[in-house]
Amino acid sequence: MSEFSCCFFYCLKYRKCCICGKHADIAHVEAVGMGRNRYAIDHSGHRFMALCREHHMEQHTIGILLFLELHDVMPLYLDYEQRKKLNVGG
Ligand SMILES: [Zn+2]
Repeated sequence: MSEFSCCFFYCLKYRKCCICGKHADIAHVEAVGMGRNRYAIDHSGHRFMALCREHHMEQHTIGILLFLELHDVMPLYLDYEQRKKLNVGG
């Protein structure tokens, strides 16, 4: 795991918004890649990031792709063990 993604992992672990550092909830980011096949959703491909209420709202308002570009943040793929460890559902 790179230092870069480690920072976002820390945010998930301590429930800190990865943008502003306020108390955060875990935002569940659906796979947003191109050519998503709705008949073959890969459940292991869901990504997570820690966002405060404000930034979570913004994410839904402007859309995930623009949001990620604007704030230069990177949602993390979490495997089953990591989700369990961080107490994250999904
Ligand atoms: Zn925030």
